[in-house]
This record gives sequence, C-alpha cells and structure tokens, in this order.
Amino acid sequence: MKIGSSLLTNSKGVVNKSVLKNVVADIVWLLNKKKDVIVVSSGAIALGRGKLKLKSELTLNESQAVAATGQIELMAAWQSEFKKHKFQVAQILLSPSDAENKKSSKNAIATIENLLKFGCVPIINENDTTSTDEIKFGDNDILAAKISKLVTADHLILLSNIDGLYSEPPKNQKNDILITEVKSITKKIESMAGTASLLGKGGMVSKIKAAEICMKSKCSVIITSGLKKDPIKSLLRSTTKSTRFVAKS
Ligand code: GLU
Repeated sequence: MKIGSSLLTNSKGVVNKSVLKNVVADIVWLLNKKKDVIVVSSGAIALGRGKLKLKSELTLNESQAVAATGQIELMAAWQSEFKKHKFQVAQILLSPSDAENKKSSKNAIATIENLLKFGCVPIINENDTTSTDEIKFGDNDILAAKISKLVTADHLILLSNIDGLYSEPPKNQKNDILITEVKSITKKIESMAGTASLLGKGGMVSKIKAAEICMKSKCSVIITSGLKKDPIKSLLRSTTKSTRFVAKS
C-alpha cells in the first residue's frame, strides 16, 4: 500500500492524524487476517519543512536535506500509531535503482521477508539523500510499483486524495465519469491521466505508469481515496469509488 505526502500531511507540515489513524486501523485488520502488508510512505519533505519552519521554495538539494530530518518525524508517526495496536514497524530507505540492481534487490527482498516473518510492518520511503527520482516526479508511485514487482505482490493499493481515474478533471458533479476498471493502459487512459494531472488532481500520470509496471508483473492496482474512515476495508463494498487495474494473466 502506498500513501502520498498530500494525503498523509497537511499544509502546516504536520501529519494528518485522522488519515494515519484510519489507514493503520485498516492495515491492522489485514494483518490480523494473516495478510502480508508493506507500506510505501512519502511525507518526509513535507514534515521536514514543518519541523524546520521553512516556507519558501526549496531547491532539490535542500529538499533532500529536509527529507533527512522529516523522515524521523514520519517514522515516529507510523511507529506511534502502530504501537497502539501492538505492532512494530521497520524503516527501509530504497532508491528506485536498488530495485533494478541484482545484489541490492536480493538484499532488499531478504530484509522485507524477514521483517514480515518477525511480524514487523516495513515502512518504505525513497532514500532521498542519494536519489531524487520520486522528489522530482512520482510521489513514490513508481517506487511502490517497483517494490511490488520485486516482492511479487498480489495487489498494490495507491491511496490518494481522489477516488480514482476520471475521464476528465472531476468537478464534483453528477456527470464526472470515474473509470472503474482498466484492463490495459491505452493512449486514451494515458491522456485521461495527463489531463487530470495538469490540474494537480492526484498526480495520475505517475499512478498510470506504476499501474503499467504492476500489471505486467501480475499485480493488480487499485487507486482509491484515503480520506474515507475505512480506506482499505471499504474496497469490499461494491459502492466504493475506485479504479482497478486488472493484472495481466
Ligand atoms: N521521499 C519523498 C518524501 O518522503 C517523496 C516525494 C514526495 O512525496 O513529495 O517526501
């Protein structure tokens, strides 16, 4: 499951506590059902900004430094919420290139598998000190897809602040068309993501790219809003709004 900065943190650079609480409660529900869950979380830069009280635009290098301090806040927030449910968390920092390097990826898989065996929840973020891919573009969507491929995940849930992929930027009106199922990433789907993303609605371009990586690796992808009280559980209800990308068989 991947959660982005704009959902997990607010404009003041602090954790959106109700979102964190709801997401953790649903992950615990899955863990109690003996499902393996890996979390990819961004938010380091946003929280670092808040902590250091930085208001102005940051350069890329400054963002990397800010992430180094915000990462502590990010992990502290996850740790404290999971602790309420008596679960331990573990921090993993990966660069997207780690997922492609044979030795690094083998080590990452072994670490993740052992953490799951120990009952710890791996919380992964990009290693912003050495890598800038997800700061520039992606908000960890691509990283989450690469990790899903690496660990041969069955599903990737992308929690967003939008219900899914809309045919056009949604105006909160009845005629907004939500695409509920995508069987292949066509030019049409790509152009819908392009339009939505230009208006800053959920960064759909990187989500579509992430879906493409996963679908080829037999991993289905779901985009849904993380603003609901039960963001993951609600996916069992047929009335819940989401976009499902069907894995290639
Ligand atoms: N690793 C970055 C962070 O945690 C991801 C980029 C972003 O979310 O803006 O802030």
